[in-house]
Amino acid sequence: MSSKPLRHSAQPVEAEESGPLAKIVVISGPSGCGKTTLHKALLASPLLRGKLVKSISATTRKKRPGERPGKDYLFLSTKMFEGRIKKGYFLEWEKVFDHYYGTPKEEALELLKKGVNVLLCIDVKGAKTVAQEFPQALKIFIKAPSLKILESRLKSRGSESKESLGLRLKVARRELKEAKHYDHVVINADLNKALGKLQQIVCHELGIVNSLSH
Ligand code: 5GP
Repeated sequence: MSSKPLRHSAQPVEAEESGPLAKIVVISGPSGCGKTTLHKALLASPLLRGKLVKSISATTRKKRPGERPGKDYLFLSTKMFEGRIKKGYFLEWEKVFDHYYGTPKEEALELLKKGVNVLLCIDVKGAKTVAQEFPQALKIFIKAPSLKILESRLKSRGSESKESLGLRLKVARRELKEAKHYDHVVINADLNKALGKLQQIVCHELGIVNSLSH
């Protein structure tokens, strides 16, 4: 999809009323690396509340138990998603694991204009597109300590069929090669330590004073 032209300003969006420039923060990492748990904890941290807001992606994959439509994802039919692609609704979109995933453009740009940093939890290809359009985006890659550990985490999640598990591991190997293009890599061996590291990076890069790191 990266070859498609995007119809919006490529540069960091200047906040209204000459406020500080807001940034896009991209988090990627293989399925099962813990990025969902980590990004939710990151958003809940008092230092970042109201300063970093997650963009809700649209997807054509089925809702998992416990997921809330409009909060975790916008669940769309393939027809609706493709219609929105044509209308230029997405900042970026990709097919991941045979389903469409995309970042709605309007909402993200509005937040940036208001001076609110926007968090995107997207795959490595989508991250590349965003980085081309927003060179100052902060890119963080999360990974499990090893492929073996990633595999056992995916298995213990119990949500994947054997086929889907194999596919996720294959894609993980490919995605891990992209880690070098990210500004930071966080290894999620211990959830609390990884969260601390993530908070430290994000606060530092967004210029938010992090008393936890002193
Ligand atoms: P899951 O189905 O496990 O929630 O997500 C599968 C993959 O799709 C993950 O790597 C996730 O980061 C990625 N993803 C989720 N939303 C988006 C999006 O809006 N754009 C892109 N490019 N990838 C996404």
